[in-house]
Parts: sequence; C-alpha cells; structure tokens
Amino acid sequence: MTVSLSVLIFAVQKFHLTLRLAERGFMQKIGILGGGQLGRMLLQAAANYPIEPWLMENDAECPAAHLCYHFVKGDIKDFDAVYSFGKNLNAITIEIENVNVEALEKLETEGVRIYPKPSVLKTVKNKILQKQYYQRYEIPTAEFVITKNLQELDSRKNFLPAVHKLGEGGYDGRGVQVLETIEDVGKGFDKPSVLEKLVNIHKEIALIVAINEKKETAIYPPVEMLFDPDLNVLDYQLCPADLDEKILWKLEAIALTVVRHFDSPGIFAIEMFTDKKGDVFVNETAPRVHNSGHHTIEAHYSSQFDMLWRLILGYPLGNTDIILPSIMINILGAEGYNGEVKYEGLDEVLQMENAFVHLYGKKQTKPGRKMGHVTVLNREKQDLLYKSKKIKRALIAKC
Ligand code: ADP
Repeated sequence: MTVSLSVLIFAVQKFHLTLRLAERGFMQKIGILGGGQLGRMLLQAAANYPIEPWLMENDAECPAAHLCYHFVKGDIKDFDAVYSFGKNLNAITIEIENVNVEALEKLETEGVRIYPKPSVLKTVKNKILQKQYYQRYEIPTAEFVITKNLQELDSRKNFLPAVHKLGEGGYDGRGVQVLETIEDVGKGFDKPSVLEKLVNIHKEIALIVAINEKKETAIYPPVEMLFDPDLNVLDYQLCPADLDEKILWKLEAIALTVVRHFDSPGIFAIEMFTDKKGDVFVNETAPRVHNSGHHTIEAHYSSQFDMLWRLILGYPLGNTDIILPSIMINILGAEGYNGEVKYEGLDEVLQMENAFVHLYGKKQTKPGRKMGHVTVLNREKQDLLYKSKKIKRALIAKC
C-alpha cells in the first residue's frame, strides 16, 4: 500500500503537535489547596485552559467547592491529607499560606511542581523568618527586634511606639497589635513575635509580580489600599495608585528584589508602605494570588488568576497593562448581623455603568466577613471614588 506524501506530512505534523502538547502537559491535573474566594476565582480562570482542577478544603460548602471538577474534603494543614491529595497531580498551588509545607516538600521531591516552592512558604508563613529574609537581602523594611514572650517584650519598652506581630497564626490584622506607649505592653503576644517600629504611613501599596520558571517577570501596576479602621479589613483599593514616578520606580525595584531572591515561580503580592519622606518599607509578601489583585479580572488584560495558570502551564506570561483605571470595594458582612445572608442594594449596583459584582457564594454572614467584591472601571479617579462610596452605602450583606 502506498501512502501519499501529503498524508505522511500531515501525520508527522500531527505527531509533533501531540508531542508539543504532551511536553506542555495537555490537560494537566492541578491541585489548589484552599477553597475560599481566591480558589473560586482561580477555578473561573482555569476553565479557559487545558486543566483538570482538583481542590481540597475541609468545608464542602466553601466558595470554590461547587465550581470544581474534583473536590476533596480534607484538612490542608494535615500531612497525610495533603500528601495523598497531591501524589497523583502534575502541579499544586495554594490560595492560602496556612498549608502543610512538609507534605508539599515530599511531593516536590517526587516530581510534583509546587507554586510557590515550599521553601518560600516556610519563610513567609512565619513573620519572624519573613522579616529576617528582608534583612538578609537588604530589602527596606521597618526596623525590628524579635520577642519570645511577654517578659522579653517588657524589656523592649524603649523600642515603642511599635507594632507587635505574632510570628505564626495571625491573619487579616488578627495577630497584630499597635503598642503606642508602655501601658500598651500588656496587649502584646506571649509567643515568638516581631516587634517593629511604627511607620508613619503615607500610603499602603500592594504590587503583584508574576515570575515563571525561566525567571521572566510581569509586574502589575501598584494599587493603593485603604482599610476599615474598626475591622482592619481592606475596604477598597484604587488602581493605579496615585504615586510620584520616582516612588513608583522604587516600589517596582524593591518588589522585584523580593521576588527574585525567593527563587521560585509563582505570583507574589508585595505589600509596602510609603512615608511622607518618600521612603518605602516592605510590610509583607503573599506568595499567591491576592485580595489586592481582584480588580485585575476586569481592569487588566491578563488577570492575576489567568497569569498564574499561564505560568504553571509554561505558557507565555500575560499582559499586565491596565484597560481602564479601577476601584475595588469589598462587600463585608454588616455589623450586628450573623446568619443566612441577604443582600440589600444589589439591583442598584448592578445598574451602575462598568460595575462588576462578584458574590462568593457564602451562605452565612457575620460582621466583617468578606462576602464579595465589586470592581468599578472609569478613566476618572473622582468618578471611581464617588462610585465606591455609593456602592459601600448601597450594597449591604445582612440577614
Ligand atoms: P496581617 O498579616 O494580619 O494583614 P499586617 O502585618 O499586614 O498584618 O498588618 C496589618 C496592618 O497594620 C497593616 O495593613 C498596617 O495598616 C498596620 N501596620 C502593620 N505594620 C505596621 C508598622 N510597622 N507601622 C505602622 N502600621 C503598621
């Protein structure tokens, strides 16, 4: 039997294509540890790519569970649960740092790709190690000392005014105490902690950097974060941040230094402070998709979620440019309401031009709980600020 030349060429081309896809791992099994809103948004973006997503979380009612191909109920802090979840996957990523790092280390030695590397998680999970990391690489950060217990804190009274931060276990402001005067020392932590100088903050900035296996980087424009003074939870964030060009360059250079020394592919959100003198201090780094990047879904060509999948799959990094300036408003559970959530003002917000509503599917509300967010796009900063206030007033998570 003779085979025509064109059929042969077609077969060879097809074979090469198959090989290329295999190299890139067509339909890769990728696991996500954690099923909160970040996991949910990761899954939304995963649907565009050849990914078979797996997700593990203890709560079968979590925001990401019903969007997932394969949901595994399990404790992400438990060695056996994480190891057995990961052993048949091509890669694993996280949506929260509080995971079992030892299991990830074992999986890494067995060839599972982990984003970020477990070594990064070890450093950032502990605020003491994280501060020492910045110190080692001469990355500007607020001056600090380490205190093992309240007795040691007491002997450091001359360091006040300062901020006391629990080494492990704190998040969203829990585990952070401002100690202005000697009388405040009792509010400190009786466990290994960081005591760092109180910075006279001018702006709180977050900057997201993506870095791939080839060490190519893509950097998102910085966002300016504003906090609810009572709940210490992110209230809204503006992108791009209103910054002097020189400060912007400084922030970008510092963020890239933070990321490069970690020596790991992934997405990194670097939170920084600026003061009135124009100095920059790194506060902390999250080696994962982050709350400060929610707006990238609508306001940037490639969102942080899209970007993470690109780098895990070995595809080219995406375009971080702004389509339009944006503001992101968190929808937090209203004060005084605990129970099954009902949203007030949803119609009003959905009618607003260029307002994009994300509800996380959480059934129960409680004061300060992150229930969703809204991103608004507009060329004018004044319009963004005006609309954000309006949304904050109109859209309320009650029960
Ligand atoms: P968490 O990891 O719980 O979010 P952070 O370290 O980010 O805690 O601190 C929470 C908030 O406390 C920051 O967003 C900032 O407003 C304030 N803060 C933290 N460190 C300092 C500091 N050295 N000086 C002044 N304010 C600080």
